[in-house]
Amino acid sequence: MRVVITGGAGFIGSHLCDRFLNDGHQVVCIDNLLTGKLENIQHLFGQDGFLFVKQDITNYIHIPGPVDAILHFASPASPIDYANFPIQTLKVGSLGTHKVLGLAKDKGATVLLASTSEVYGDPLIHPQPETYWGNVNTTGPRSCYDEAKRFAEAMVTAYRHTHGLDTRIVRIFNTYGPRMRLADGRVVPAFLSQVLRGEPLTVFGDGSQTRSFCYVDDLIEGIVRLLHSGHNDPVNIGNPAEMTIKEFAETILRVFDSDLKIVYQPLPKDDPKVRRPDISKAKALLNWEPKVSLEDGLRKTAKYFQTQLSANP
Ligand code: UDP
Repeated sequence: MRVVITGGAGFIGSHLCDRFLNDGHQVVCIDNLLTGKLENIQHLFGQDGFLFVKQDITNYIHIPGPVDAILHFASPASPIDYANFPIQTLKVGSLGTHKVLGLAKDKGATVLLASTSEVYGDPLIHPQPETYWGNVNTTGPRSCYDEAKRFAEAMVTAYRHTHGLDTRIVRIFNTYGPRMRLADGRVVPAFLSQVLRGEPLTVFGDGSQTRSFCYVDDLIEGIVRLLHSGHNDPVNIGNPAEMTIKEFAETILRVFDSDLKIVYQPLPKDDPKVRRPDISKAKALLNWEPKVSLEDGLRKTAKYFQTQLSANP
């Protein structure tokens, strides 16, 4: 296959580039490097079958030659990133998705859209099955991301129905691993960088809000299975092992044998109170479930952050 990966220099996109190249496919990686980093794909330059195109996909995308699949992963994705770049986030989710779909129609390619658990907003149904329509504040601080992804799901669906395009939608829940940016503001890099620097762990609110954390290798396996599955409706991929953020901070202190303090800071507006994927659909359709334990995943991620910190203290 020849696969186009938008956002290919980002955290998840770069792992997808690795996986598709390792599986013997050709990869065209597109990224405008707004939140992605060349460092994430540096090891791929010069490798057979790898091409990097620096482009903002909200503009017309021209890719010469055949394309079999497009994995659309371009978007700022951490709450701090999309708060810093709300218009870019809305544009890449809407105009960018439109350009991706146009390219796919032209090439007869399958499109896999990276959607998100944020389409469920601050959920009133728990855990969240794909059939839940969500509870999103249309003008809140997360709306630029949530609504862009909801629009993207609608656009992908319209292209499937109108043009017969072959499409997939993965709803990604909190994922972590090497190549996250230390300062992207998300809880895993925040807590791990605090442990590595010997600083107190910053829990927002009273820490009673819940999340669950999926290691990136597990997510990538789920995405590959979904692409090959032929299933068009949205599928949740995430780890159902739910915990409060306070419990998560305590787990990190235990795993890294640390006695650092936990300090409490104000809870950001519209921070979802609970989140946990119902993964019955992924289990039944893709025979997929996460395999990597939180402890193993955290150790691998900390090793990466340690290298980052040594390079740029
Ligand atoms: N959080 C925290 N301390 C931090 C960063 C985040 O307590 O230093 C909390 C945040 O308020 C949220 C959870 O951790 O409840 C997960 O936040 P993240 O930014 O990773 O992603 P979200 O799941 O909110 O999109």
